[in-house]
Amino acid sequence: MLETAQTAIREAAERLGYDQKTIQSVLEAEAEHIFAIEVNGKRYPAFRVQHNSRRGPYKGGIRFHPHVNIEEVRALATLMSFKTAAVGLPLGGGKGGVAVDPRELSKADVEMLARRYARHLSPYIGSGKDIPAPDVNTNAEIIDWMTDEYEKTIGATDPGAFTGKSMDKGGSEGREAATGRGGVIALVELLKRQNLLDKPLTIAMQGFGNVGYFFAKVLQDYPNLKLIAVSNSKHTWVQSDGIDVTRAVHVPSGTPRPEALHDLQLVTPQPSGLITSLKADILVLAALEDAVTEHNYDSVKAGIIVELANGPVSAAAERFLQQRGVIILPDVVANAGGVIVSYLEWLQNKDKVHWPEAEVNQKLEKILIDASGDMMDRAAERKLSLKQAAFEIALERLMKN
Ligand code: GLU
Repeated sequence: MLETAQTAIREAAERLGYDQKTIQSVLEAEAEHIFAIEVNGKRYPAFRVQHNSRRGPYKGGIRFHPHVNIEEVRALATLMSFKTAAVGLPLGGGKGGVAVDPRELSKADVEMLARRYARHLSPYIGSGKDIPAPDVNTNAEIIDWMTDEYEKTIGATDPGAFTGKSMDKGGSEGREAATGRGGVIALVELLKRQNLLDKPLTIAMQGFGNVGYFFAKVLQDYPNLKLIAVSNSKHTWVQSDGIDVTRAVHVPSGTPRPEALHDLQLVTPQPSGLITSLKADILVLAALEDAVTEHNYDSVKAGIIVELANGPVSAAAERFLQQRGVIILPDVVANAGGVIVSYLEWLQNKDKVHWPEAEVNQKLEKILIDASGDMMDRAAERKLSLKQAAFEIALERLMKN
């Protein structure tokens, strides 16, 4: 993924005529924090990469996943700098992670891990320095623990030091659904440009966590866009007459759970890997990086791919698919809804206000429609892919600061 991100940046820089020294300066992270967190006698590798702060404080999530490593966090931090710039936020880019499978830990141990992570980083983060947020396997509860521990450590209140908090701790309305909602907004803008918005289209979606679930939910506002398949790391569920996502939740907790479709005998599960090769007009990648690579790109049948995860299409796959005429809606715009509402949360914390959900969604929509328009205009004017266009816009903005 690091190579994929750096290739996109290098190529954009070369097209725009920047010299090698300048290019190198945007590839390198400004700071990296590598440490270990001990919980119950076990040590977990932990990271925070602060990639670029030319446009504002570092911004980006923290993921808890067994595959987390420094290269991955570096790549994700780099993507954050380009994401915030591509959608015009006055923020930089960073990312954090702990190499852990939180499902193997008790709730008390996850809390200890989260608190120790925040305590270790407390000298380097804050509302004016670096603002972490949720990512894969982290949520409002974990962010609340981190905020609390950070504030205790510094001996002051600074709710804007983290975003993605719960509502009573200064979180924003609409933050939980924001990445999925943003994905729908960006996709609809693309379909409008392609004159496809009124056509009946089918969608297959890989990944059914928080992001995928809310994407599917908001998609229900567009009845002609029909979700016909979803997957998680174990299975793919196909239902050609359309999946009712409101039934794919765990009762009573309400957390996304595609197995619920199976429990209800609605659909029979098939192997997980099937999802990327299904016959559907649009393939939404909402799981992890490198979902489509040289190993499976030739089986992709969709004409449009939405990168709702970070870095789900490798550079090699992207080249191949582009040649076949597949349109890829790039991650730096497609999944920017989350960081946009994080930015809105940070603004609300700063001014000690709480906006209603409709206001938050309206602001999110405006920022994302403008960013999508800029990207599509440049792509059309300069005959670029959407990703090339988004990276050029982001790079120019980064260089201006
Ligand atoms: N983790 C999300 C992302 O990858 C959101 C980051 C944020 O809100 O700062 O964009």
